[in-house]
Amino acid sequence: MPVRRAGNTGFQLPAISFGMWHSFGEQANYADARDVILSAFDAGIFSFDLAANYGPGSYAAESLFGQVFARELKPYRDELVISSKAGYHMWPGPYGQMSSRKTLMASLDRSLQAMGLDYVDIFYSHRFDPDTNPEETAVALNDLVRQGKTLYVGISNYTAEQSLAMIKIFKELHTPFVVDQVSYNLLNQSAAADGLFDRLRENNAGVVAYGPLAEGLLTDKYLDGIPADVDIHWSNQSLLDGQDGRQRMVTKLRALNEVAKSRGQKLADMALAWLLHDPVVTSVITGASRPEHLKENIQAVQQLAFDDEQLAKIQQILQA
Ligand code: NDP
Repeated sequence: MPVRRAGNTGFQLPAISFGMWHSFGEQANYADARDVILSAFDAGIFSFDLAANYGPGSYAAESLFGQVFARELKPYRDELVISSKAGYHMWPGPYGQMSSRKTLMASLDRSLQAMGLDYVDIFYSHRFDPDTNPEETAVALNDLVRQGKTLYVGISNYTAEQSLAMIKIFKELHTPFVVDQVSYNLLNQSAAADGLFDRLRENNAGVVAYGPLAEGLLTDKYLDGIPADVDIHWSNQSLLDGQDGRQRMVTKLRALNEVAKSRGQKLADMALAWLLHDPVVTSVITGASRPEHLKENIQAVQQLAFDDEQLAKIQQILQA
């Protein structure tokens, strides 16, 4: 598993990280979760991406991860990068979401308790809060570092402009800000188009890409059609919009699949490899919860290089 760095910081991640957003809630089975988490670790994935609202259920995925950590991974704590985030619905009332000082501080305490950890490696403000000034959020993140509860900080779902405002404050405070985690996949390149990647590059930080397969669209699953009940993350929602949106998407997926085949890759592997062709991308987070999917996705790192012709062909298909 290649290891990549955010700018010139000491923060390093495996090219592929493992995310626990939506299959690790209260209904999840411990043995299945344990198997996929340990398969990831054995494949060189030492970075586990969590958040207060993952599960589904508040702190549900973090509690499950905590059980696996206590029984299986504790001896490897120094090898692991464990992330948490706060900002989406966590508990009732005004402090149970967004990015105030009280929200971030209370949530990280709950996350540490759920996972049985003394500290996380990186703690993110999970979303931009339009009503709280950026100083308050940045200072709270900085204070959590000084308290020893997180080693690095990140932001997630911030635009280029919102990120720059935060970076300015982090610089003044000498906060170890390292990555911006955003929705980014072949079909949705809006974060790069917004100028965010250039701003991060200029400021020695990296991108962590979430939803790299558009929740399964960029796999073999939908090459014969996308059923009407297939629902995707809000950040990718517009991909299927419009009359015959689903049929047009299938045409694109099939064309992309032909490029993948010409590279000797599955569509999912090409989609993951493509995200890593820009060095500003420090890691992509796979959301596979089935071991066979994880196994398939890890193959992406076997063929990361693209020639100019392949890159041009891919953009041509996407723009059609
Ligand atoms: P993906 O784009 O990887 O989508 C995951 C879905 O794709 C699952 O349904 C999975 O199925 C399916 N899938 C994955 N690999 C394959 C395959 N090879 N063949 C067929 N189907 C496949 O990622 P997510 O959208 O889940 O996001 C990944 C992670 O990113 C999350 O777990 C979370 O950590 C992070 N994230 C962060 C957000 C933020 O706001 N910061 C928002 C959303 C996600 P199955 O489960 O059956 O394997």
